[in-house]
Amino acid sequence: MDKVVGILGGGQLGRMLAQAASVLNIDIVVLDVGEHGPAKQVVAPKSPRLAHIDGSFTDAAKIRELAAKVDVLTVEIEHVDVNVLDEVQDSLPLGVHPSPSTIKVIQDKFAQKHHLAAHGCPLGEFVSVDATSESIISAIKKLGLPLMLKSRTLAYDGRGNFVIRDANQIEDAIGALGNRPLYAEKWVPFVKEIAVMVVRSTTGEVRSYPAVETVHKENICHLVFAPFRSRDPTIADRARAVAEAAVKALHGAGVFGVEMFLLADGSVYVNEIAPRPHNSGHYTIEACETSQYENHLRAILSLPLGSTALKVPCAVMLNLIGASSDMEEITSVAQRALAVPGASVHLYGKSECRKGRKMGHITIVADSDAALRTRLRPLLECLPAPSD
Ligand code: ATP
Ligand code: MG
Ligand code: MG
Repeated sequence: MDKVVGILGGGQLGRMLAQAASVLNIDIVVLDVGEHGPAKQVVAPKSPRLAHIDGSFTDAAKIRELAAKVDVLTVEIEHVDVNVLDEVQDSLPLGVHPSPSTIKVIQDKFAQKHHLAAHGCPLGEFVSVDATSESIISAIKKLGLPLMLKSRTLAYDGRGNFVIRDANQIEDAIGALGNRPLYAEKWVPFVKEIAVMVVRSTTGEVRSYPAVETVHKENICHLVFAPFRSRDPTIADRARAVAEAAVKALHGAGVFGVEMFLLADGSVYVNEIAPRPHNSGHYTIEACETSQYENHLRAILSLPLGSTALKVPCAVMLNLIGASSDMEEITSVAQRALAVPGASVHLYGKSECRKGRKMGHITIVADSDAALRTRLRPLLECLPAPSD
């Protein structure tokens, strides 16, 4: 392949995109702060022209510098300078994917909900609020308690969310999020969380991956089970249909991660969409015929999409989240996993370990759910306990 892909952001998602690119001999140039981040570590530029760029993915000048070197620009994070992406997209032979207009809608979660609602996607109720107790009280009157207060922008891993369980927490909520643009969501009493990765080509072909169950711990993805299991066999197909419809409401090529809630009555709501490869799709590397990373590259380069089917009966992905600054706690779980049949270890090469930081993940595949649980159990038992 003689095309060059520029990636805004050089964390673990960029690293796994770069790993997939190297197999297809696709050149990658990464823009992120520092010279040795997770993505840059795995790509040695073939020529000085393809050198990575040291700078922020929110820096307009650096984005222009990246655009001048590549055929197509993509993102591993949505919190980028979207106006510059808009400005450069016509100068790039293959444009910017997903489209800047899509990134713009998604990076404001309130605008995203509006957009999805306008396109008929099933969603919980939400209202605009500002950081005053009057405004929050009126949201509580409309949506009830608990109330999920959310930052409209720059949210990840639940940092930007505040659950108001009692009206006497309003001041705490304003203290925590008051300096950010806000909106509120009605509490969704979900019984499970589901995610579906969806890939769309430049010609508009859409393929979804199997539905998976995501399990969060302290707002951070902890486990992903593939495929989604339930007594009602229609749920997985309905979740895929909801996810495909949600992605069809957006422009541009690439993979999208659609997070959803399953309610007790069997209905499926969209929570949010990520316009890029997603944590809930890491399992596709070992468990699907084409990984989310390879399919993202195929999509944005107008290459034929690969099959999204599972190639193993079942898989589980366990995130390795820092419990403290002690890197040893992570590497010891990873070493333990090397002895587990069907386990693949991914360590992201981050220079420092921190509480709540994603340091790596382990995917286990197996022939049955029972075997999967047996393989997973010893790893769950040796996870470090979070310390303060
Ligand atoms: P991500 O890292 O996935 O981008 P985020 O910071 O954007 O996270 P959300 O996905 O909005 O956060 O919320 C994080 C988690 O909080 C969800 O996965 C879900 O468990 C819970 N949650 C979010 N919204 C609601 C809601 N309206 N009702 C109940 N729980 C919710
Ligand atoms: Mg989010
Ligand atoms: Mg989320």
